[in-house]
Amino acid sequence: MTGIVIVGAGPVGTLLAAELARRGVAARLLERRPAAGAGSRAVGIHATTLAALEASGVTERLLATARRVREGEARHRGRTLGVVRFDRLDTRHPYVATLPQSATEAALAGAAGAWGAAAPERGAEVTGIRPGRGGAHVLRADADPLEATVVVLAGGGRSRALHPAGARTHAYPDRYLMTDGPDAGSDGDRAVVHLDPDGVLESFPLPGGARRYVAWVRAGGDESGEAAAERLRRAVARRTGSDAAAAALTSATAFGVRRALVSSLRSGPVVAIGDAAHEVSPIGGQGMNLGLIDAVTLAPLLAQWARDGEAPPELDRWDRSRRRAAALSARIAAVNTRLGRPSPARVRPVAVRLALRSPAERLLARAYAMDFDPTAAALRPR
Ligand SMILES: Cc1cc2nc3c(=O)[nH]c(=O)nc-3n(C[C@H](O)[C@H](O)[C@H](O)COP(=O)(O)OP(=O)(O)OC[C@H]3O[C@@H](n4cnc5c(N)ncnc54)[C@H](O)[C@@H]3O)c2cc1C
Repeated sequence: MTGIVIVGAGPVGTLLAAELARRGVAARLLERRPAAGAGSRAVGIHATTLAALEASGVTERLLATARRVREGEARHRGRTLGVVRFDRLDTRHPYVATLPQSATEAALAGAAGAWGAAAPERGAEVTGIRPGRGGAHVLRADADPLEATVVVLAGGGRSRALHPAGARTHAYPDRYLMTDGPDAGSDGDRAVVHLDPDGVLESFPLPGGARRYVAWVRAGGDESGEAAAERLRRAVARRTGSDAAAAALTSATAFGVRRALVSSLRSGPVVAIGDAAHEVSPIGGQGMNLGLIDAVTLAPLLAQWARDGEAPPELDRWDRSRRRAAALSARIAAVNTRLGRPSPARVRPVAVRLALRSPAERLLARAYAMDFDPTAAALRPR
């Protein structure tokens, strides 16, 4: 019998392994992929998450290379509609730390190793989880099944089907092109959201003189190779007004968005966290942050479970609280996604300008920084 098995060595599973090791609790980490991925997804880590990651030393590792973004501007055809000021947040980290997800994952793996967590077992794909008395059978494509007291499903959206609890999912019709490329524009450390009549263009500074661009695009267009890169360049040139910023970009990848939430994170000996439990539109920029907070707050409960041999009663409250946090993030992301659709109406820039006036701007800054996350309140040093 193995104690705790974690399925998936993405950011969330890796952080859970680190947090358990920090408490002296052993866990096995099973990962389908033979090597860590290099693809770029999450780029923003919020104030609340940075506070939650301090104890494990992850925050220090992230801030060694991250760029600190203190302001986000909403713009319409070159005119400022308003500015969201993260630098006025009442927190030790009054900024969004930006870095590519691969760098975040490397920092998390470094912390896990430093705390003595077992390295991920790669090439280990979990194909089924069968809850039973006193634990669960973990079925694997590459080896005999394992028996575990607790299985934590942290395998992202694709692995949600392994969870015994059902989920509600909703696919949005929107398509986006994105790239992380050289920053040849003039916005410096400022994040800018261009609310263009043709659809949104988001632009976030990254370390090393780079920038993330995400553009809403019409579905059905060419989304591969040079054709996609050219579509993104045209969107950047038109929506930012900067030909230089557009010309520096050489590639683009396409993605769609959806939202999902399991009916309960825990089902007997199986607990889902991260994207396996909830997915929110990346246009809200909070999906990975939610999962990292899941891992930090679940670890002490799992340590207690391992020590006492039975699930602590607080797990139910944690489950409800994490679903509330995910639902809140999903609402924020849904509003952002809707705001990013094409609209010739003049009323929208006016509404956004009004919304970004104090005190609504303060509330928005706190909402984006995940200051309203109900579970993370206790982890928030000021
Ligand atoms: C374009 C884009 C931009 C984004 N931007 C942001 C952002 O700015 N901020 C933010 O907070 N979030 C953002 N997100 C969301 C973020 O990327 C995800 O929320 C995050 O990656 C979820 O982490 P995870 O560890 O739960 O899952 P994943 O990152 O999906 O990792 C799961 C791991 O489990 C492994 N695995 C899967 N199935 C199995 C199996 N059966 N057996 C063994 N291993 C398995 C996978 O190989 C993978 O390594 C963005 C997403 C996208 C698509």
